[in-house]
Amino acid sequence: RSTTVPNIDGSLNTEEDDDEDDVVDLAANSLLNKLIRQSLVESSHRVEVLQKDPSSPLYSVKTFEELRLKEELLKGIYAMGFNRPSKIQEMALPMMLAHPPQNLIAQSQSGTGKTAAFVLAMLSRVNALELFPQCLCLAPTYELALQTGRVVERMGKFCVDVEVMYAIRGNRIPRGTEVTKQIIIGTPGTVLDWCFKRKLIDLTKIRVFVLDEADVMIDTQGFSDQSIRIQRALPSECQMLLFSATFEDSVWQFAERIIPDPNVIKLRKEELTLNNIRQYYVLCENRKDKYQALCNIYGGITIGQAIIFCQTRRNAKWLTVEMMQDGHQVSLLSGELTVEQRASIIQRFRDGKEKVLITTNVCARGIDVKQVTIVVNFDLPVNQSEEPDYETYLHRIGRTGRFGKKGLAFNMIEVDKLPLLMKIQDHFNSNIKQLDPEDMDEIE
Ligand code: ADP
Repeated sequence: RSTTVPNIDGSLNTEEDDDEDDVVDLAANSLLNKLIRQSLVESSHRVEVLQKDPSSPLYSVKTFEELRLKEELLKGIYAMGFNRPSKIQEMALPMMLAHPPQNLIAQSQSGTGKTAAFVLAMLSRVNALELFPQCLCLAPTYELALQTGRVVERMGKFCVDVEVMYAIRGNRIPRGTEVTKQIIIGTPGTVLDWCFKRKLIDLTKIRVFVLDEADVMIDTQGFSDQSIRIQRALPSECQMLLFSATFEDSVWQFAERIIPDPNVIKLRKEELTLNNIRQYYVLCENRKDKYQALCNIYGGITIGQAIIFCQTRRNAKWLTVEMMQDGHQVSLLSGELTVEQRASIIQRFRDGKEKVLITTNVCARGIDVKQVTIVVNFDLPVNQSEEPDYETYLHRIGRTGRFGKKGLAFNMIEVDKLPLLMKIQDHFNSNIKQLDPEDMDEIE
């Protein structure tokens, strides 16, 4: 794997193995999402609820006061700037805080308030005077565990004497140490080790068990089995909660194995649509020609900010250098960067420090840059068998129907790729107009 990034002056330390398609790393994407998230993600769908006991009344809350939380916890919530429960929290919190405790499986896309909900549940069930682990939260990676821990620390700011401990590799506990912290957040392997081998945690005293990011968890070898081994050792009255951003069958099967008698809450994801996107294509001979067309478009219309997608890292780098040499302010986002580096590039772009963001597939998902008016497919997204990758096309240029503004999309097409474009057009039953790059009047 190459670690090449453009130098400040735009030159590259090229290595030749850098042309592979970026592999999607679920945990990295999830972390990136958290790092760049600034507010709740909205959804126009209704929350679907499946109660374990359908005859019991269904409560929902519109305010945090209704939950009768400890004073110090309510203070922490308001200090975080939360005014009212999110859509999913309205339904989930009453179930999570009920007496006797109820188990819950909840699915909603990232950014809808799941973490805040289970952190609230853990903090409300913890007894600060008891100095042993009472809440256990499993996360897929060290970094994700830390992110959740930060939320516990912020929300629990006024809950004096409640403390968090991280069961993650590298956090060495001297032999004979007694763990007195009430909330443990960790990865399955290390938690298993702490519970069974080192006997630092007495699982029979755990009251709340949270399995976060279940979809990422089952994607990691061994984590499902380890999580199940941990869950099996919990007392039957322990509250068990599972969260996931997506819900394929595999996640569902895992969730049902690990959470007994659950209530289920789902919030469907906002669908992406191409309806309010005007799509164009420009026929080109080669890469240089594509670049020229891009420059013409750029010179021809007023552009706020643009995202340009390339299929390979090599193309993305080439384009970055070309544009830099022509005096454009561009930044390059690609899979070889660390998640922190990616987050900072996206943040700079959001702040308007660069006008153009060039990127490869890996970063296409989850970037939600509202002010972007133009998306350019410098290369069409294709899969391994050189067929159009419809889903990626939709993710690159689609907007959510209700919240999305109008947008413009340009596809730079070599003549031999035209059939692919036509397939895309048919697939989405939408109109992609040919554009003469010398004549931009067409667009206005
Ligand atoms: P998820 O776990 O589903 O990804 P989070 O709990 O991390 O969602 O919430 C997403 C963002 O929204 C975070 O920045 C969080 O601080 C914020 N948030 C969560 N709940 C609320 C709320 N009730 N009101 C305002 N902001 C909230």
